[in-house]
Amino acid sequence: MSAETTATTPQRRPVPTLVVLANATRPRRPPNTRAAITVNPFDSHAVAVALLEPLGLEQQLGTDEVDDLRALAAETQAITEALLGNRRPPSIATLNRLAGQASATRTVRVAPDGTLSTDVRWHAATAVAELAWRIVAELGRLDPSRLRHCAREPCDLLFYDTTRSRTQRWHSESPCGQRERQDRWRRTNG
Ligand SMILES: [Zn+2]
Repeated sequence: MSAETTATTPQRRPVPTLVVLANATRPRRPPNTRAAITVNPFDSHAVAVALLEPLGLEQQLGTDEVDDLRALAAETQAITEALLGNRRPPSIATLNRLAGQASATRTVRVAPDGTLSTDVRWHAATAVAELAWRIVAELGRLDPSRLRHCAREPCDLLFYDTTRSRTQRWHSESPCGQRERQDRWRRTNG
């Protein structure tokens, strides 16, 4: 089997898996709540499933996968913090070990007119391998300068700025963008 090395190419495309796992254990303030809520998503399989739900994985998270998921999230968080601080990521071993459980097959196709083409298809037998494989792909196109912490003081969530102008300040409009504007209005009018 041959190996191929590809340099990372920074892109503006979202890196959703990386962001979800990097934020997994950070306190969050849902809309309509002022107090921060810290839920450890790795305390229960059901909460871990809910965390991954927006990512639309092909594989279901197995009940025996929560420990691997916790380790993958911890490492993803450390990698993103290092990138934010312009430091060398401390470890990539868990990520690469789990991504190594995904595999690719290459098949050849013959079109009706005889033209040949080849397809590469990826398979991950588990949800955690699928996540790790996605994170590796996202790191391959990550632009570290687009990775930032939410600018709203009490919020610590990380986001990836996909705006052309690179001017996104909040991890999300709701609640952080709205609250920032409300507070500014109160400061000027209160
Ligand atoms: Zn925020």
